[in-house]
Amino acid sequence: MARILLFVVSLVSALVQPVAGQGMGLRGVVHTVDGGTAAGARVFVACAGARDSAVVDSTGHFQIEVPCAAAVGLVEIVDPSGRYLPSMPRIRPRVGGGEPAFLLTPRVWKIASGTHAGQAVPVDLVGATTRACRACAAFFSAEDTVNMRPPGIPVWLEHSLPLRVAFSQEDGVTMTESDSVAFMSVAHALEVDLGRRWFQPAREEEVFGDPAAEDLGSIIVAIDPGLTTAGRGNWAAQGGEIVAGVIYLQSTSLISNPRYAGVVAHELMHTLGFGHTCSWRTVVAAERCPGRRSDSPTPEDVAHAQLLLRLRTLERHYGIYGSVAAAIAGLEKYPHVPVPAQEPAPAVEPAPLVGSAA
Ligand SMILES: [Zn+2]
Repeated sequence: MARILLFVVSLVSALVQPVAGQGMGLRGVVHTVDGGTAAGARVFVACAGARDSAVVDSTGHFQIEVPCAAAVGLVEIVDPSGRYLPSMPRIRPRVGGGEPAFLLTPRVWKIASGTHAGQAVPVDLVGATTRACRACAAFFSAEDTVNMRPPGIPVWLEHSLPLRVAFSQEDGVTMTESDSVAFMSVAHALEVDLGRRWFQPAREEEVFGDPAAEDLGSIIVAIDPGLTTAGRGNWAAQGGEIVAGVIYLQSTSLISNPRYAGVVAHELMHTLGFGHTCSWRTVVAAERCPGRRSDSPTPEDVAHAQLLLRLRTLERHYGIYGSVAAAIAGLEKYPHVPVPAQEPAPAVEPAPLVGSAA
């Protein structure tokens, strides 16, 4: 009898398993922006009143046996170790196909290179995406959307770097050789702070006259005496990819006078795709928070810039988008850092029963 029962049980499980594996469940993979392991994070899916969850394994995968995967729009990923921000990403078809992939953002970004190497900076996605003034972009600007391309927070693509920096002579204001040398030295100091190569000097005709130049990123620097502010920097993006950067300066003295290096660095940060912020001490402080102004990128600037570039590179690599918004939604729902499970305290051994009674 027991043998028959065992046979029936194994037959039933053999029948059930393939069905459960055939598109009924949700299988996916979780990656992290800093390359650490997502193993141990818990993935929740709510569906038709039922809620199920699974733990991410050592390969980054999870599998949830829910009966209505196709209708599920949202998952929740919570890392009990507290190393990664909670995330509430949407389940979307991956660009280029493949199983659903998700990206977790660390709570702390460790700066690996440059002036601030070794510093650990708490990641502030809400601060990075909060607009510091009505008309300006936030440090992480809004997701850029165009038809037929996945949206994304605009960044320069890795293959566009280092950006070619050319000086425009068009408006009749002549920039001397020493002006361009002074400009490139501010650009170089910015690179040292940001911890990577961003710029290379180029001639104007190289940027405009070369048909292959479209693949290479370029920044045009121009003097405009009619400018009402000292400088203005901007970028143009398409579907989350920056395609051009431009800087206008009121006069060449802003370049030659080291006192204004902070203005040039500020405008250069804009051409890299970073807007204004008042969320931390910064080289791109908005006008309303002059007390937060710094003449060079602070550890917060560098950490958030490195994080965004890496995050967007990974989003494109995995064919996904919306990871920053997913983490902000996750933080709204799970605002507290989880307390890691305590190791069970060693049990106190009862004192041996010795006494007069024995
Ligand atoms: Zn600005």
